[in-house]
Parts: sequence; C-alpha cells; structure tokens
Amino acid sequence: MALTNEYLIGVLETVKKRNAGEPEFIQAVTEVFESLEPVVERRPDLVEAGVIDRLVEPERQIIFRVPWVDDNGKTQVNRGFRVQYNSAIGPYKGGIRLHPSVYIGIIKFLGFEQIFKNSLTTLPMGGGKGGSDFDPKGKSDGEIMRFCQSFMTELYRHIGADCDVPAGDIGTGAREIGYMFGQYKRLKNEFTGVLTGKGLTFGGSLARTEATGFGLCYFTEEMLKANGKSFAGKTVVISGSGNVAIYATQKATELGAKVVALSDSNGYIYDKNGIDLAAVKQIKEVERKRIKEYVTTHPDAVYTEGCSGIWSIPCDIALPCATQNEINKESAELLVKNGCFAVSEGANMPSTPEAIEVYLSNGLLYGPAKAANAGGVATSGLEMSQNSARLSWTFEEVDAKLQGIMKSIFKSCDEAAKEYGLEGNYMAGANIAGFLKVAEAMKAQGCV
Ligand code: NDP
Repeated sequence: MALTNEYLIGVLETVKKRNAGEPEFIQAVTEVFESLEPVVERRPDLVEAGVIDRLVEPERQIIFRVPWVDDNGKTQVNRGFRVQYNSAIGPYKGGIRLHPSVYIGIIKFLGFEQIFKNSLTTLPMGGGKGGSDFDPKGKSDGEIMRFCQSFMTELYRHIGADCDVPAGDIGTGAREIGYMFGQYKRLKNEFTGVLTGKGLTFGGSLARTEATGFGLCYFTEEMLKANGKSFAGKTVVISGSGNVAIYATQKATELGAKVVALSDSNGYIYDKNGIDLAAVKQIKEVERKRIKEYVTTHPDAVYTEGCSGIWSIPCDIALPCATQNEINKESAELLVKNGCFAVSEGANMPSTPEAIEVYLSNGLLYGPAKAANAGGVATSGLEMSQNSARLSWTFEEVDAKLQGIMKSIFKSCDEAAKEYGLEGNYMAGANIAGFLKVAEAMKAQGCV
C-alpha cells in the first residue's frame, strides 16, 4: 500500500535521507505511517504539534566500545548500543539483543516498534532497545560473563529503575541478565529493579520466562475467537526454538493445537506426531545445542537444512518466533496455498511488507508483532511493579494479569481498526491505538 498523504510522504522522505543504510528502520516507520493516514486526516492538531516529526527521531542514541578478554587471553572488541527512543508515557523500556547482525538500524527499528507495543500494554513504559554485535554462540560461560560485565560497565551510567529498564531479547536470556544485573549492582552499590527478566531469587517475576510465548497464544486465541475459530484441533508451525518459540509451543499445545515444526538459524525439524517439548527444552535450555539434535531421539521426525523451508509445511496457523523478515512473499504464498488461515507474530517484524500484503489480500487473520508479542514487555512491567512494591506475586496471579492484558490489547486493536473503517485489519488497529496514546502524551508535554 503506497502512502498518499502529502505530510506523511514528506516526513518519510526526511527519515529516508537521515537514516540511509538502515532498511529495517525505514521498513518499520513506513508500515506505521501507512496505518496512520486516516489518523493524520482526522487529527490535524497532532500534525500541528509536530508529534510525528518528533516521533521518528530517537530522544537519545548511545554507541560504545565493549572490550573483553577471551579464554585465550586475547582482547576482543564489540560495539554496544542503547537507543532511548521515546519517554512520553514512561521510562524507556526494551530488550538487549546480542547477535552478530546487530547494528544501529536494527536497534532503531526495534526501539521504534517498542514505543507502540509498550503503549498497547496499558502500562506506563516508554520505548527503548539495546544490544551488541557480540555473538554468544560457541562462547564459554566465562566469556559470556566478561562480555556482559564490560557491556554494563558503560551502560550503567545511562540506565536506572526510573529512567531506562532493559530486558532480554535474542541472545540475552536469564544467564546474561544475571551477569548484567550483578555488575550494575556492584557499580552503583544499589539493589533496584534496573533490569527485568531477572532470576527468581533476586527480584525476577514468576511467568516472565513464559510470558512472550504464552501472551502470543492468548492474543491469537482472542483473535481466533473473534472470528469463530480457536487453537483446538489445529496444526501449528512455529519458527525459532528460543525463549518465545518454546513457550508458544507449550501454550498452543495446552490450548489443544498440535505444533509440528520448530527451527533455528541452521534448519528446521518436522514431527508429524507433534513436537515433544520436554526434549526441545532439554536440548535448547539445558544443553544449549542445535535443534537438529531432536531427530537423534525422535526417529519419526525429520530435520531439513535451511530455515525458510519451514513455511512449506502445511498448517492452519503459523507463529513466526525467530527474527525479522523471516517470511517473504514466496513463503507467505506457500502458507496460503497450503490452507493456513492465521499468522500471528512472536518475533519482531518477521513478515516483509510483501508478505503482509499476501496475508491481507487473502483474508488471513493477521496478528502483528507489536500487539501479539507484547506479553513479554507487559510482564516485565509487572516485574517492575513488584520490584517497586518489594513483593512478589504467584505464577497464577501474574499469568492472570498477562491474560487480561493480552485480551485488552486485542480489544484495543479491534476497536481502533473499526473506528477508522478498517475492520479486521489488526495491524492498522495496533499502530493506531499504540500511536494515539503516545501522541496525546507528547502533545500535552509540549515541544520536547
Ligand atoms: P532467543 O535467542 O531465545 O531465540 C531466537 C531463536 O530464533 C533461535 O532459535 C535462533 O536460532 C533463531 N534466530 C535468531 N536469529 C535468526 C536468524 N537471523 N535467522 C534464523 N533464525 C534466527 O530469542 P527470543 O526467543 O527471545 O526472541 C525471538 C524473537 O522474539 C525476536 O524477534 C525477539 O525480538 C522477539 N521478542 C522476544 C521477546 C522476549 O521476551 N524474549 C519479547 C518480544 C519479542 P539460533 O540459535 O540458530 O540463532
């Protein structure tokens, strides 16, 4: 869908000029702008207040050197990032990605998406994101610790429980958050909820580990229900085999679906009997090995090299939970051809614009990432509340709040889409609902 609004076209031109060489960021901004056309026409006051001109420029971008010593005594240098994107509705909040593909454009696209996602959760959190081009794969525990300590030795001066609260993302799980938290505490000599996703013995929230995957399924079930369907009895394909994929598999199975495939960046497994999740948890969470190990203990399962082939497996529902742009036009067309009727996103921006076009033009139910995967950050928000109040809720309490939040996110997307004449387009609904709350706050706070 091409933009037609002159004002938005002009702002997008500036964004492209200012951020040349950052295609993921430009892709994220373009998608939001396409949804905002009817809003801009109905709300000239927001244009007048320069809200959108300000929204596309991060409030602060920090880039720093991360030196660390490997197990051979050799100095290694990585680049660290923290983009403090928007604090209109609360402290900056967003994860830390550790992956060799990380550069400023990836962090900016993720930080931009985070603004709207956090707004949709109903909790008071602004948008931010961080990371490094460090590759955790194949590193020893000692190397991971030294990297995390060095990363925090710079980052600590920029963050704080009321200023910026990072969390996990690709490559950053409980182990990495633990090392970063330890170093922050040592440098600041204070015990505060400055990171979320912490271990349960030092301020972490029950159900945070499960939250993104569970939340994805809660959101998806709401979307299915609103359209007379459900997970029960359906075949599901899930990409990735990390934190989000594992707990999406668990919840989809609990809701009565059969998950038949998972992947990593090398290839995918197909198990026609349904994925044995205990085996996957053992391989990925305990042994930290590759997903292909699964077939050594499950002779009925098949492993195939290369990850995009996973979308050729016939399914009713697809849940991409690996990384950005993992479903392109061809993969989307294959999903449609094989009878898939719903795509709901656990990963951030996993579908290319062309793939989204295929979903929408074929009437698929499409749950966009910023709504569907918001359960992780929502539960991080609940961890912040527990830390501030110095108490901890039970798993059931947190899970019930998460379910309530995901239902309310679906409702906001659905209602905003209807209000702007785009019924059933939950992507437009998510962008509009997420934007309006932040935009009102930015307008009220003046030109800052
Ligand atoms: P993990 O690091 O736990 O797992 C990532 C999974 O995706 C791994 O299986 C990994 O395979 C695969 N993957 C990563 N990069 C690529 C790539 N370039 N190509 C193919 N496969 C890849 O991360 P999470 O599960 O936490 O995150 C997955 C997605 O969900 C990301 O997009 C993240 O931003 C998003 N997300 C995560 C949240 C959270 O709470 N963790 C919250 C909201 C969104 P391999 O091991 O081979 O690298």
